Amino acid sequence: KKTENQMLVIFGASGDLTARKLIPGLFNLYLAKQLPPNFVVLGASRSDLTDEAFRDRVVYKSPYLKEKIKKLDESEVKGFADKLFYMDLGKDYDTDYAPLRKRVESLKADHGTSGNIMYYLSTPPTLYETIAQNLSEAGMNTQNNGWKRLIVEKPFGYSLETARQLNKGLHKYFTEPQIYRIDHYLGKETVQNLLVTRFSNSIFEPLWNRNYIDHVEITNAESVGVEKRGGYYDKSGALRDMFQNHLLQIVSLVVMEPPIGDQPEEIRNEKVKALKSLRIMKDEQTLFDNTIRAQYVASEINGEKVKGYREEEGVDPNSTTETYAAIKFFADNWRWHGVPFYVRTAKRMPTKVTEVVIHFKAPHHQIFKDSGMQSKDNKLIIRIQPDEGILIKFGVKVPGQGFKVERANLDFYYSSLAETYVMEAYERLLLDAMQGDATLYARADEVEAAWEFVDPILDYWKNGKDVRMYGYAAGVWGPENADNLMNGFGFWRNPGEN
Ligand code: NAP
Repeated sequence: KKTENQMLVIFGASGDLTARKLIPGLFNLYLAKQLPPNFVVLGASRSDLTDEAFRDRVVYKSPYLKEKIKKLDESEVKGFADKLFYMDLGKDYDTDYAPLRKRVESLKADHGTSGNIMYYLSTPPTLYETIAQNLSEAGMNTQNNGWKRLIVEKPFGYSLETARQLNKGLHKYFTEPQIYRIDHYLGKETVQNLLVTRFSNSIFEPLWNRNYIDHVEITNAESVGVEKRGGYYDKSGALRDMFQNHLLQIVSLVVMEPPIGDQPEEIRNEKVKALKSLRIMKDEQTLFDNTIRAQYVASEINGEKVKGYREEEGVDPNSTTETYAAIKFFADNWRWHGVPFYVRTAKRMPTKVTEVVIHFKAPHHQIFKDSGMQSKDNKLIIRIQPDEGILIKFGVKVPGQGFKVERANLDFYYSSLAETYVMEAYERLLLDAMQGDATLYARADEVEAAWEFVDPILDYWKNGKDVRMYGYAAGVWGPENADNLMNGFGFWRNPGEN
């Protein structure tokens, strides 16, 4: 695909995300010669920085690029850094973008970037609509002299209502095809590989339905706690921070019907349909039976004391924000009728892992039942992080007399394709947006469909009569009650244990 000459304007360029993900992603694209010939970045924020100070901060003195820079020629680093510029938007940031327009015009004239401009909103979300409005008022959203695109960071809304408001707000100034809502999980190679696993291998898709699949499990576990983000996290929680966006995106790729082709809208249409098929939990009993929330409590990991969630800096000592969420649900459609989905996400787990487990049904007629085959179903495990890859658990005969069956692993690691350069999520997504490919970006209706499913759970957790908050010690797989969700299926697959 062709990447046209363009300019990237980052709002919130003095922030963490710019230094940690955006600039390193762009630097990799530069080194891989993927940036167009005429390309510049204009960072914008309220901090008082010169172009040089900005380059120092995000390139020359950046802790995120230190190791990489050591291995490179000075000229290579300078070649990239010279493409970066900065503008202090001062206290007028919120209203008048005339000076910003002037700077954009002069960079365009000096560097021949053409009228194509990508605006990246990496500020607090409360500013998204204001920035879009200001761009519009300064005439910076018109497409008569080159395209204008807007990349929007998460969180995309705080509830269905706020997500709708935000969509409406942005749509006043930018059309839907101009808006790219980023979900970095979709930039991960293994998440995209879900589509390939399903739709280009004839051994899986014929089995991908209620006739052969018993249940589906998705786990997202982090071993760390909230670290320094307590203040932010306490207003968000596991359901908003991980489930509504990243995990439901993964669910949509597991649930969706085969799209008719690989065009962005063909894929996104199917994802929306998948999300709309999720059965919304309406009454308190259903919500009580199918949702579990918990917080980590003070405990020890390897002899070291760790704080409980409510003792973390920035967290309300009476907080009811969950650091663990486990949800059981169904997709009401032909393919998945009656197949339960179990999805959990949590902090302070024994390990860091994200994986999808497809549990196939055991064979109907058990001829080796006296030999232990009965209890051994097949599993397809798609590991999203770390050690990205695919694992199939299948039954083999134990050597020796009789038919004793054991489960063996067919294990594939993405790293074994080592010669192939694997792009970082942000790098891949930035390049896609620069090329106008929105396949891996969330559409407005997709975001709203996800919120429609999540809203009643959040409402129940906030206002429900009989709602519980469980505790779990740091370093264990969550509260025991979460296993009750799995009744009939035993326990969650805890990676490394079973
Ligand atoms: P951050 O470190 O707090 O940076 C926010 C930036 O916004 C700063 O550059 C700040 O710059 C600017 N800003 C703050 N208030 C402003 C205001 N009133 N007017 C104009 N600019 C203002 O945040 P971040 O971690 O980079 O995150 C940016 C966005 O990405 C957030 O929406 C966040 O939710 C999202 N996100 C971040 C991550 C991550 O890993 N960090 C991951 C996913 C999503 P000045 O103080 O110089 O104005």
